[in-house]
Amino acid sequence: MATLFVVATPIGNLQDLSPRAASALREAPVIAAESLNRSRKLLSHLGIRGKRLISCREANRKLAALKIREALDQGRDVALISDAGTPGVSDPGGHVVAELSRSGHKISPVPGPCALAAAVSVAGWPGAPFSFLGFLPAKPGARRQLLERARDAGWAFAFYEAPHRLAETMADLAAMMGGRGMVLARELTKYNEEVSYGTCQELAETVKPLVTKGEITILVAGGEPALQQAADMDELLRQGLQAGLESPSRLAKKVAASCRRPRDEVYRRLLEIKGALAESAE
Ligand code: SAM
Repeated sequence: MATLFVVATPIGNLQDLSPRAASALREAPVIAAESLNRSRKLLSHLGIRGKRLISCREANRKLAALKIREALDQGRDVALISDAGTPGVSDPGGHVVAELSRSGHKISPVPGPCALAAAVSVAGWPGAPFSFLGFLPAKPGARRQLLERARDAGWAFAFYEAPHRLAETMADLAAMMGGRGMVLARELTKYNEEVSYGTCQELAETVKPLVTKGEITILVAGGEPALQQAADMDELLRQGLQAGLESPSRLAKKVAASCRRPRDEVYRRLLEIKGALAESAE
């Protein structure tokens, strides 16, 4: 049975192409590629000619899957590559693989470079769980909602970002979770590679002017999950109210700053807890 090889290619430095990936590209008679132009460059670097190329973009992924299936059914191996990195990680490769796995075709990975893995490798994350968000939604409301969910889950998270959206996203991160650690990995393995470490607030202030183009992967460290944050906030409010040393508005301001929550939200919660304390004292 012919095989669909899912082949990882370099995210910048061509020397990162593995010998096995080079063999897979040499041996497969058909290559399905996200961008034919980019792939021709890679193939010509490897001295590979005379392959049948199938275009496999987001817009034509169904047709691409059909053409790949035909080639496999004729007994011809196919190598699937994306513009850079590992196909299927935030690029159209995943859809093609899903279609072909449903029709029972043999699919085999040729692992290698991946922007997410490269960024995680320099993040210094201590093996804690993290989520990967892919690309954030383009619309500000949807983007903030997703970031809010990621923040409230408490886990570390990573995502891919386009340079023209970076400033807005950094501003959101600074406003929503300014104290959390961040790693901004840009142009990994390329001449202008740059890895910056700091809090979301610090990096929003410092790296913005430097980053106007290039490929960017962002990692945000974990924090307290929303449920734990809420429990901590309630406890601080309860203790403050019971001590009775400061006015409710002063107490709400202090707790809001320490829990990084909006002051009006904390004040509303303070009134609820004050009411409950008064009831239980009756
Ligand atoms: N499947 C690819 C992979 O696994 O690396 C990622 C494909 S996705 C369409 C492209 C995004 O990956 C870019 O917009 C950028 O956010 C990130 N990326 C790609 N190359 C990068 C690099 N050299 N340094 C940092 N991030 C990179």
